[in-house]
Amino acid sequence: MAEQSTLVLKNHQLRHIPELQVDPEILSQRFMSNSAMCNCNGTCCSEGVLLDVKEKEKILAHADLIKKYLEPQQEKDSSKWFDDTVERDADFPSGMCDGTAVKGKSCVFLCSKGLCALQKTAMAEGMNKFELKPFYCVAFPITIDGHVLTTYEPEFTNRQQCCSIVTEGSLTVLDVCLEEFEYILGTEGLKELEELFHQEASRSNGKRV
Ligand code: SF4
Ligand code: SF4
Repeated sequence: MAEQSTLVLKNHQLRHIPELQVDPEILSQRFMSNSAMCNCNGTCCSEGVLLDVKEKEKILAHADLIKKYLEPQQEKDSSKWFDDTVERDADFPSGMCDGTAVKGKSCVFLCSKGLCALQKTAMAEGMNKFELKPFYCVAFPITIDGHVLTTYEPEFTNRQQCCSIVTEGSLTVLDVCLEEFEYILGTEGLKELEELFHQEASRSNGKRV
């Protein structure tokens, strides 16, 4: 679990976490100048994801539609799409989560081209592209752990052009993951977070003088 922090966001849109703490480490983490989420190849989908039980219900309600976009080798039996190990977790809106199943070496929904079948379905059917995708997949590599906004460190990808944290780099996590932060926090929450990054930049510039 991420450490408790004194940095708190209150203007964000996550109703189940009125006071969202911010891991101070994310303010100083750095990424290579060529890092971009558009370089994603789905490597991080190898372990599947935890999702809210309501998200799971929504996916199952669209099972017939999703099956149209699965590749021949992908699991068509929707009773095998989830771990079915429901746990309590206050970082999910309903307070309950489950996991997507892993088949072979990746999440059941990952296709051979590194694309998510849930997103593929939504886009092909004219829905919002994230309509069926679990919240923490869209947010990745940003995550919420024990009501603390932090980064999941996908060091196992060993791909610096992705969202992997490096020792020396010119970009902050806000530069690389602006869209993900806006998705999680909403416009007002993002402004509050930007202010924290702004204060951190002024503080470290002051130190260099
Ligand atoms: S490190 Fe980030 S960009 Fe790279 S595969 Fe993982 S999620 Fe995608
Ligand atoms: S649901 Fe989609 S984005 Fe999430 S881990 Fe599975 S394949 Fe990846």
